[in-house]
Amino acid sequence: MTSKAGLVWSILLITAGIVSLAFIFYTLFPGKVPSVAGQYFTPSEIERARHYQQIMRLLGVMAFLAQVVCLVWLVASTRAMAWSDTVLRITGGRYYPALIIYFILIWILLKVVALPFNFYGGFIVQHQWGFSTQNLGSWWMDYLKGGVLELVLAGIGVTLLFWSSGRWPHTWWAVAALFLSGWLFISTFLWPLLVAPLFNRFQPIEEGPVKTTVDRLAERAGLKIKEILVMDASRRTTKANAYFTGLGSTKRIVLYDNLLKNYPLEEVEAVIAHEMAHWQRGHIFRSLLWSVGANFLLLGMLYAVLKITFTYEIARPGPYPPHLLVATLLFLQLVSFLGQPLQNAISRHYEREADRVALQLTGNPDAMIRLHIDLARKNLSDIAPPPFITWLTASHPSPLERIREAEEVTR
Ligand SMILES: [Zn+2]
Repeated sequence: MTSKAGLVWSILLITAGIVSLAFIFYTLFPGKVPSVAGQYFTPSEIERARHYQQIMRLLGVMAFLAQVVCLVWLVASTRAMAWSDTVLRITGGRYYPALIIYFILIWILLKVVALPFNFYGGFIVQHQWGFSTQNLGSWWMDYLKGGVLELVLAGIGVTLLFWSSGRWPHTWWAVAALFLSGWLFISTFLWPLLVAPLFNRFQPIEEGPVKTTVDRLAERAGLKIKEILVMDASRRTTKANAYFTGLGSTKRIVLYDNLLKNYPLEEVEAVIAHEMAHWQRGHIFRSLLWSVGANFLLLGMLYAVLKITFTYEIARPGPYPPHLLVATLLFLQLVSFLGQPLQNAISRHYEREADRVALQLTGNPDAMIRLHIDLARKNLSDIAPPPFITWLTASHPSPLERIREAEEVTR
């Protein structure tokens, strides 16, 4: 490792450490919410939601830190290299079988390290707070299904990445960024058809008042929406939500059955209008374009860092040795963690735009305000997180901000 590499890794690790500590600090000591929140929520509602979010935030950051510590330990203790040598010996020096076995090994290790936090946050806490409707067997089934899917897709990605490093020693990062970007478009198109049905059942919305609302809003938004789907979210959670997904002909709006069951029609209308606004403004497509830029930047930086860190390995012909995978994963973990503020700022920008367009579509700010109050109450969202937490992790504006925005319209 060159001294320049030492400097780059130190900066990355120290920055991630400081940001994590600040995140933990603001999670434990969030300060007071603006007094205006008292107009919409009782002090005990605010406190209860804060407490729930505190637990979830701590578990999230701990899972991240545990994985980073594990990866740093693998590199620093030279185990990353020793394991790679062992695997190569077992496969009789055959590169690709060794790479795949090595990847599976590291991947399982990372999963095991994060499991206690994922299990506690995803199962135990969800039951304690009365959200989960899932039994233990079904939770594990989800976890395994998701895990295998991730393992297969990431495994293919890693194999292609390392193959490119041998094929195009100086430009593999650009080729890989191109592959990855293409894959993001394809997978966004296919996700609703192939992946979502593995976890839930989807049914077109039935004739009735909601369907009439959909047709009216779609006409106003100038959208040709064939169908809106209802998802059986209640098999896992009591939380309500909705999302817009897909690309081209697979674009769709999905509503949780909990939303239709537990929310008045006017509020359901506000949700549908918000999702239609994402559709009308092409937010998925625009986010994908952002991610193309991010892929080139991320993989270009990865190449630069690997080059100064593993000068000897990279100078040799052929694909990178398997043990570079650990540094690669560590780099991607750290940079995506530190890249969150940018990603979330873009997301919040789209969410604000969707809220504004939705208000124009429904012309009913009161229902929008009631919706955000109800959602925050029932889903236990932090009404107004500390600015640092919002800056780092919030993909949506806070409920209080969304309520205030809708209030502006009524004035
Ligand atoms: Zn949205």
